[in-house]
Amino acid sequence: MKRILIVANRLPVNVKIVNDEIVFHQSAGGLATGLNSLEVDYEKHWIGWPGIYPEKQEHKEKIQEALEQTLTHPVFLSEKEVLHYYEGFSNKTIWPLFHYFLEYTQYKREFWEEYKSVNQAFCEEVVKIARPDDIIWVHDYHLMLLPQLLREKLPHTQIGFFLHIPFPSYELIRTLPWRKQLLEGLLGADLVGFHTFEYLRHFTSAISRILNLEPKLGRVYNENRIVQLDAFPMGIDYGKFNDASEQPEVKGLVRSFRENFGKGKIILSVDRLDYTKGILQRLWAFDRLLKEHPSYKGQISLLLLVVPSRYNVDNYKALKDEIDKTVGNINGKYTNLTWTPIYYLYRSVHFEQLAAMYYNADVALVTPLRDGMNLVAKEFVASKKNEKGVLILSEMAGSAVELCDAICINPNDLDSIVRALHEALQMPEEDQKERMGVMQKIIRKQSIQKWAKDFIAVLENSYLRQLRNEEKEVCDTVKQKIKDDYKSSQKRLILLDYDGTLVPYIESPQKASPDRDLLQMLNDIGSKAGSSCVILSGRDRGNLQKWFDGSKVQIVAEYGSWFREDQQWTQTCELSDEWKEEILPYMQEFVDKTPGSFIEEKSHSLGWHYRKSDAWLSNLRVQEFMNALIYPCTKLNLEIIEGNKIIEIRVGGISKDEAIEKWLHKDNWDFIMAIGDDQTDEDMFKLLPEKAYSIKVGFGATNARYNLSSSQEVREILQQLHE
Ligand code: UDP
Repeated sequence: MKRILIVANRLPVNVKIVNDEIVFHQSAGGLATGLNSLEVDYEKHWIGWPGIYPEKQEHKEKIQEALEQTLTHPVFLSEKEVLHYYEGFSNKTIWPLFHYFLEYTQYKREFWEEYKSVNQAFCEEVVKIARPDDIIWVHDYHLMLLPQLLREKLPHTQIGFFLHIPFPSYELIRTLPWRKQLLEGLLGADLVGFHTFEYLRHFTSAISRILNLEPKLGRVYNENRIVQLDAFPMGIDYGKFNDASEQPEVKGLVRSFRENFGKGKIILSVDRLDYTKGILQRLWAFDRLLKEHPSYKGQISLLLLVVPSRYNVDNYKALKDEIDKTVGNINGKYTNLTWTPIYYLYRSVHFEQLAAMYYNADVALVTPLRDGMNLVAKEFVASKKNEKGVLILSEMAGSAVELCDAICINPNDLDSIVRALHEALQMPEEDQKERMGVMQKIIRKQSIQKWAKDFIAVLENSYLRQLRNEEKEVCDTVKQKIKDDYKSSQKRLILLDYDGTLVPYIESPQKASPDRDLLQMLNDIGSKAGSSCVILSGRDRGNLQKWFDGSKVQIVAEYGSWFREDQQWTQTCELSDEWKEEILPYMQEFVDKTPGSFIEEKSHSLGWHYRKSDAWLSNLRVQEFMNALIYPCTKLNLEIIEGNKIIEIRVGGISKDEAIEKWLHKDNWDFIMAIGDDQTDEDMFKLLPEKAYSIKVGFGATNARYNLSSSQEVREILQQLHE
């Protein structure tokens, strides 16, 4: 049976040691429900911290043994590890930062070091258990380094990652000293999932700005791997909440509840204690409502359920004190002998009580300042069997993307909350039912079951795509074949692009000169009897002449307008350069408004380089550039070519094609190999005979037969020909 290993900070189990005996019970969360409903039967293993610090080795062993009966694998952590990794880096660094609470974010090295080592400990535990065809699904912000750590140990295993909290804007993530490592950690997965497209957009912006990658259409090539990026809004077990009001226990609770509250309307607020939830703002708005609409006094009550959470973290304690004080003030101000405005519960309640609260409430007030998804909003909607009730929802919650028929508010705008409360309390039943009906339809469909199923299906697909990708990769067998064919052939043609192929791209193109070893190797290959080694480049001929002076390589410069054969330069056609005068001022304008960009002038072309410029800005400028230059270029019969972080304008009709054709027909070659990395090399691949070895440096769609990942690997291939 196929297996899924679910890796999360905390195991879905409560473990205790009572009189030397291990007592534990499973706590079935949403995730387990979603996974249990998958149509394909998977054997599910859970890996995580059991939430206990057994002192004796004997206890650890007993816990391990007992849990493993239920396919649950504990990762034991010390109190210090939990303090720095969980309470520290996870909850005092990532949590506030990813929820836009920069002022609460702590950037401490000791937290980071522990975070790294606990992620490593998780990795070791997973590696012990994993089998080659397992699916590994890593969850949440506590384990963001884990996908990459696992990838190093298990290069061919399917790994998915889901982030349950928001992914913030680049402006936030850039403040983190370890931003690069976290992003690289996530890209070890085959699929990285988020709740909303907004978070996905922020993530793609972060990886393009921080890691200099170019995500396109929900995919990013990270070295030799494709990483799929997508949004999967997490849902709830709709049936469980929708049917709850029919359970006898819930029915009883609903009845006694109503008797206590009488005819007054109930506004419900349910959250974990957390500064992201906007509990204080909610209380202030309720206070303002009573002040501005005194007629509600005695008519409405706020049922405030706050579930204790992270009490060890300082600002949570302070928040709790502030909530206590504010509730006390409001109740002190308005309570009379027959009415209490706020019923305040600081505890967690069991499912039946919660279901009864949802069912009875007239309004749910869900106003987080930031929230990855917010399941309370969805559970409230699902619980409304009779479709009566109004949801007031913060636009800062992930669930607002789907629940458009809620009354949406900005949680920082107290007036908007007051207006929303008034509107909700006055809303005719017919409107309530209409809105509720629409929302129920949406969340019934986008359930927790569908969420898990969608994620696994996309993960399986990305994995298959990756396998297809790997099939095209120049593996050791192909390398050996290239070597054997080369050695056994008499007439060899080797066509090589320069930038991105023989040398990596660097910020300043003038500095990308060939080193001594490369020059020597190319010279030796080009000197062999019967062999021709041709460099085809868009670079200026003066530049190439300086670098390859005296070398036995042949050169095609400036995309084919010049070529050097046996040290002699020939111009393929007579060209005028008068057009440059007209085009240069346009290009200069773009240099002025795109910091970091510059113009490179070659004899028959002009290049606008923007490698050093901000990725977002240059993306915008490229479009503007194309629009501005299309007319003058057409008029002057010039071509616009988009290369790797460069746009070149050159005289129409010049291309590498002619030079390639010329070389292909020059002799009766029995070995041809062509290597290139960008769009202009794609034309070269198309012109080659079927048997030729065509290799693209980098991944993605190509006409080449093979891919490889870097110029370093190109050198390795050339080196083996040279040996
Ligand atoms: N919840 C609970 N016990 C309670 C009250 C609420 O377990 O006493 C659950 C609630 O049903 C919901 C979850 O806590 O599923 C809160 O999820 P949400 O996404 O709203 O916020 P989070 O706490 O994950 O930030």
